[in-house]
Formats: sequence, C-alpha cells, structure tokens
Amino acid sequence: MPIESYNPYTGRVLKRFRPFSWAKTARILGQAHRAAATWPATSFAHRAAVLRRAGALLRERAPALARLMALEMGKPVADGRAEALKCAAGCDYYAAHGEEFLADELIATDAGRSFVSCQPLGVVLAVMPWNFPFWQVVRFAAPALMAGNVGLLKHASNVPQCALALEKIFHDAGLPPACFRTLLIGSDLVEQLIADDRVRAVTLTGSEPAGAAVAAAAGRHIKKTVLELGGSDPFIVLADADLALAAKTAAQARMINAGQSCIAAKRFIVEKPIVKEFVAQLKTHLLAQRTGDPLDEATQYGPLARPDLADELAQQVADSVAQGARLALAGGQDRPGTALFRPAILTHVKPGQRAYHEEFFGPVALVLEARDAADAVRLANDSRFGLGASIWTQDLAKGEALARQVESGAVFVNSMVKSMPELPFGGIKKSGYGRELSRLGIREFVNQKSVWIG
Ligand code: NDP
Repeated sequence: MPIESYNPYTGRVLKRFRPFSWAKTARILGQAHRAAATWPATSFAHRAAVLRRAGALLRERAPALARLMALEMGKPVADGRAEALKCAAGCDYYAAHGEEFLADELIATDAGRSFVSCQPLGVVLAVMPWNFPFWQVVRFAAPALMAGNVGLLKHASNVPQCALALEKIFHDAGLPPACFRTLLIGSDLVEQLIADDRVRAVTLTGSEPAGAAVAAAAGRHIKKTVLELGGSDPFIVLADADLALAAKTAAQARMINAGQSCIAAKRFIVEKPIVKEFVAQLKTHLLAQRTGDPLDEATQYGPLARPDLADELAQQVADSVAQGARLALAGGQDRPGTALFRPAILTHVKPGQRAYHEEFFGPVALVLEARDAADAVRLANDSRFGLGASIWTQDLAKGEALARQVESGAVFVNSMVKSMPELPFGGIKKSGYGRELSRLGIREFVNQKSVWIG
C-alpha cells in the first residue's frame, strides 16, 4: 500500500510520503538499540515526568490531532478529541502506576531472599492499525516507555501524519528521540525488522492475516509477541433486560468509529420473545445517527477509512443476503468505490452465512435469535473470535454466571464493552493473545527475572 494521507470523505489524496529505505530503517534501528542501553538507567520518576508532559501535550493538541484523524481516516472531530484525551489519561495512568506495577515481588522459598524483578526487553516493534490511530499506539507506548523499553512504530500506511504527530509529541515531551520513532515503511520491511537481533519483541493490532504473518516471523526468530486482532463481539439481550436501554446502547456500541472497532458489538443475540421489538428500537436509533463531513462538529459518524473497506463490507452483506439473511435496514454504500456506509441491520443470521462466521468491520448489526440464556451463550461461543462480550439482564447474579461462561477476554454486564487503562484488554481464540493496559499490559514486555539470594 502507498504511504499516503487519503481523505475518505472527499476521495482526495492529501499527501504522499516516500517510504524509508531499508538502509534508513536500519540506521534508526541502530539508534533505538543504543538508546535501549541508556533509557532504562533513568529513574521511574524521570520517565513518569516525560509521560505526564506527553499527556499534557495530547490535551493541548487535541483539536489539531482530531483534525488529522478526520482528514486521514474519517473520524468525526468530536470523537477524535475524545481519543486524544483518552491517550492523555493513558499516559498519566502509567506515569502514576508504572513503578508500583513493576516493583520487585518477594516470594518465599528456601533462599534467604527471593523475588521477581522486572527488566525491560529493549527495542519493541509496534505494528498498528488506522482505526484509533493514537489510542492503539499509546496503549502500547505508555507502558513500554515507562518500563524502560524503546518503541519503533510501523503505523498503518493510511495514517502517516497521525504517526508523525505522535512521534513529535513524545519528542516535545522530552523523550530522547531515539526512544520512540515512527518508521514510514510498508509491511514488506516488517519481517526483516523482526529478524534483526536488535528487535526484541513485537506487538500488532490489526487483522488476522497480518497477525498471523507477524507471529509466524516472530516465531521463526523466537521473539515475544502480543496480538490484538479482530472480534465479532456478542451483545446478548435476555428477555428480562431493560430493553429500551439495551437497544439504545446497542446502537452506540455498533456505531463506535463507524463500526470500525475491534470491540464494537457485532452480533446481537436476542431472546426470541423480544427480537421484533429490539430490532425496531435498534433501527430507530441507527436511523437517528447523523453522517456528514468528519470536520463538522455535528457529524456523528463519518465514512469508513477507505473505499475498499466499504466495498468489502457491502460484499459481505450481499453474500449473507444471498445465503438467507434478511435486511431489516438496508443502509450500505451510495455507490461502489465510495467510503460512506450507512448503518444496516441483518436478521435471520444463521450458520453457513458470512454474517454468522465473519467479522463485519463497519456499521452492520447482525441479529441472531436465541431460545433462552443457555442458547444465547452457545451462539456467543460459536465463533472463531473471543475479544469482548456484553450481556443485558436485570438479574445481576445470572449476568455474572453467564459472564463466566462466555469465551472472551472481557465481558461487560449491562454496559457496552469499553477499553480503559485500569482493566486488562485482549482476546482469546482468533482475537489474539496477550494483554494490554493495566498491570498485566506493562508486564508483557519485561523480563520477569527470578532472583534467589542465599
Ligand atoms: P491490516 O491488519 O492489514 O493492517 C494493520 C497493520 O498491519 C497495518 O500497519 C498494516 O500495514 C500491517 N500489516 C498488514 N499486513 C501485514 C503483514 N503481512 N506483515 C506485517 N504487517 C502487516 O488491516 P486493514 O487495514 O487491511 O483492515 C482490514 C481488516 O483488519 C478490517 O476489516 C478488520 O477486520 C481488521 N482490523 C482490525 C483492527 C483491530 O482493532 N483489531 C484494526 C484495523 C483492522 P499497512 O497499512 O502498511 O498494510
């Protein structure tokens, strides 16, 4: 893919970038490797101060960053500002808690004293997607830098200006430049980087094929990986749920970032007696969403990030209909080759249809009918993915019991799934492995060393 800023709302290319050569990439890698020898010697207090300054800059620059996101991937500016503020909170969180999360853990053994001590790994390569171009990177970078690691960012090819803006924020915050660099490279150089001994670990957020390619390369070279891939999150609505609130939240949960979120609710698994009413209310809420220019404050959802993503989604819908699903709300593209995709609802989703088996990365709600709560959990778990899940019931004990049965990395009862610094984030099955955020996230890229002293 060319490295370029392409405005999906206007269909215009805004800026093209010449990809870095391998020679330039290797030079930056060498600098990062040298920085990895000195950065861990700084104190936690020093690193926390850098992260707090980065947080302050993210807040100060939020309007400009939101504009960049609107131009490069179609996110409405109000949502872009919220993303920048969330990144600031993520930096503050690790500034406040990083040291405590990595403190020595005393363990009683036959030694005079034994403990686990956390040391940084060195250069960590981050391969990141365009859907939350700042948050996806910050949730890797803030803990990694706090732990004493050094980051190299290979961002998605359609968000180079976001990638450069984030690099500038860290540098302006006082981070030594070599500790965090954006590499304007295509995915063709990723394997070569992974093969290099100076890269110690890799994290990827993105699609299953990209995750499999990176994990295979990392496996060949025995490198630690964290993968945060797709999801087809179930949103289970039981007959005793607060239906009005569930339907309203369902629309919000499906429409996060115009549906392009790994933890957006995708499969709405609804108990039979309330399916009709749920679909009617969901439709009303989806139709009330306003689209328009992402730069306009009133816009609630923008175009998809690229026209090819909208074409693919339209094909998934058409194939599912041919396979027996029904359109309760038609939505879709105005024309093939354009990025705007209006919300749609598919009902009668059954095994054998693309809608049943695949992730729909855009504003299409897939509705499945469940006989009872046990059947709802069975349907939820009949998926190759296992990222998040949401369960709606007024019986909290039942909600908790079902939450334990759902195969996913997170379950929210009577709420949509959210990512937040305090809670671990990640998946099982084809949604990936490893955890980001929280205490678990900062411990992914450290050597948890056992020390035994006689
Ligand atoms: P990709 O997974 O292709 O892109 C994500 C990142 O991986 C980009 O930086 C991309 O680089 C890189 N990449 C892609 N292929 C490889 C490879 N073989 N080796 C190394 N790096 C690679 O996502 P797409 O943009 O193509 O989106 C397609 C689908 O991916 C979506 O429909 C959705 O299902 C899923 N997705 C999931 C996300 C999530 O949050 N989990 C986020 C985005 C997408 P480059 O841009 O240069 O190709």
